[in-house]
Amino acid sequence: MDQTVVAAVTCAEPCGDCGAERECHGVQALVDGRLRWDTELDCAACGSRLTVCGGALPPERRAQLLAEHGATALRVTGPAASRVAVMRVLRAELGLDLAFARAMARQVLEGECSGTRPEMERLARALRVSGVAATATGP
Ligand SMILES: [Zn+2]
Repeated sequence: MDQTVVAAVTCAEPCGDCGAERECHGVQALVDGRLRWDTELDCAACGSRLTVCGGALPPERRAQLLAEHGATALRVTGPAASRVAVMRVLRAELGLDLAFARAMARQVLEGECSGTRPEMERLARALRVSGVAATATGP
């Protein structure tokens, strides 16, 4: 089985119970080919704890992940990887429409596609399953 890949951030936000600032730990993880985002909220002031599993990754947390961990690049290393094969994987994995998948496939083939480690690892694995030599490189 493929190894789980995680990227985590810590932030602070107002507690929903008492209004004090509480800690929030967010983890984006690649588990069995799927991305998940789990958060754990911990309030030192009132002691409330909340764990939210499987939520959507908010854009500001994704930006924080990239800022703190750096962007991971997706590289296609095989000789003359077919854009059609890459597009097919992108459409299947991300549910992109044709135009968007075509634009993103171009970025992938030119080495300009980057994102969080779990996101890029997920695409690299899916590409390899389809016979395209791909790696997620960087942080
Ligand atoms: Zn509280």
